[in-house]
Amino acid sequence: MTDILEQITNRDPAQKEFHQAVNEVLESVKPVLDRNPEYRRAAVLERITEPERVIMFRVVWMDDQEQIQVNRGFRVEMNSAIGPYKGGLRFHPSVNLGIIKFLAFEQVFKNSLTTLAMGGGKGGSDFNPKGKSDYEVMRFCQSFMGELYRHIGPNTDVPAGDIGVGAREIGYLFGMYKKLRNEFTGVLTGKSLNWGGSLIRPEATGYGTVYFAAEMLAAADQSLEGKTCLVSGAGNVAQYTVEKILELGGKTLTLSDSSGYIYDEEGIDREKLNWVMELKNIRRGRIREYIEQYPNAAYTEIESGNDFNPLWDHKADCAFPCATENEINEKDAQNLVNNGVRLVAEGANMPSTPEAVNIFVDNKLLYAPGKAANAGGVAVSGLEMAQNSMRLRWPREEVDGRLKHIMKCIHKTCLDASEEYGQPGNYVAGANIAGFVKVVNAMLDQGLV
Ligand code: NDP
Repeated sequence: MTDILEQITNRDPAQKEFHQAVNEVLESVKPVLDRNPEYRRAAVLERITEPERVIMFRVVWMDDQEQIQVNRGFRVEMNSAIGPYKGGLRFHPSVNLGIIKFLAFEQVFKNSLTTLAMGGGKGGSDFNPKGKSDYEVMRFCQSFMGELYRHIGPNTDVPAGDIGVGAREIGYLFGMYKKLRNEFTGVLTGKSLNWGGSLIRPEATGYGTVYFAAEMLAAADQSLEGKTCLVSGAGNVAQYTVEKILELGGKTLTLSDSSGYIYDEEGIDREKLNWVMELKNIRRGRIREYIEQYPNAAYTEIESGNDFNPLWDHKADCAFPCATENEINEKDAQNLVNNGVRLVAEGANMPSTPEAVNIFVDNKLLYAPGKAANAGGVAVSGLEMAQNSMRLRWPREEVDGRLKHIMKCIHKTCLDASEEYGQPGNYVAGANIAGFVKVVNAMLDQGLV
């Protein structure tokens, strides 16, 4: 096991997020390999940690000042054992191959847990959409798709959104794909409603995360009613997490972006949430503006050199990290525990460092890792693909009902796997083991490909 991690680290020493994600899965699946020696003989770990295909490309576009810009594009097609590659695109200046590989690796297990037939992939660019005009974003997306289109397709690889890629970007990407291929197919998910999108897709990741949290609480004879919650981020996942917390009777105290966070002791109600949605999705403003509108709230800048994030240092019952990877470190995790938080459900991908995860597990928190808790987004993407294939659109209640059912199934699958392998209640072990076994069995069925 350590040999494999060493091999991976030596091969690509700079890809630290990828090593982190692999290490967590390897630790969890050790008992599975001990019980099934044929997996070791078939070199499943060596195979599952190596992408089936990596595509890297130049993206050239012209900005509004007529300056030529060059970005780097990525698509990592990680594993197609159980279905076409599926996973989002991230546009953010921090994007590099290591980050996309970690996200693609996580996606393989997450997609496996959804019960749907989807392999794992992820892509993106170091392009920063922040502060760009709509025309600049359009020209970038068109140039990006000018290369990506030859590698994707409704039965090959179906991208979606992630950080920096929302409805606007999906629209421009889809438009270019359609023009280049001269076909109207379900090649991207997260499309707008009137041209192939699914109801509940924008809400799905946030709603699913809260459904998962509600399942964990129900298993412990509790509910979200009256619980106070810390939420980070203010984008797609954070917004719909807050919406569902409100619907289930909880109270959200915080939201953030990469500059700082707001703390609203009175709670973020429906009217305030609508205001945030308008601020972030239409005006593309910053969360600090919240206190101009709601002066009873407080705004705190988050300084990059800090060794802890003050957002996680407030009294609360539950925490929903919904911004980005490694946003909760060891100290933050200890602060959460000290402040009485008993549940952490990850809307973001890998937002907790390994040290933070150990603190959650050691303190017996109800802790749901992202690959289980935030799988609702890709699950409804899978439902969007199914509707596109049938040329049908299911009503809101039907998609929401299916999402709820899928989150319930994922919860049960994680619990069952954690019990079967002697770690009852450990959702990290459960999610990794259940996701892994399904993919590995499919790989074995399909031979050395
Ligand atoms: P958005 O771009 O809509 O929002 C991202 C939010 O996180 C923004 O508030 C952003 O602030 C903040 N953020 C981004 N990077 C950082 C950073 N380095 N430090 C602090 N804050 C940061 O993205 P999503 O809501 O779609 O995605 C959020 C998380 O959820 C990601 O981890 C993503 O991988 C994960 N996820 C998303 C899914 C989806 O369906 N969209 C599905 C499953 C997981 P700012 O505006 O300042 O950058």
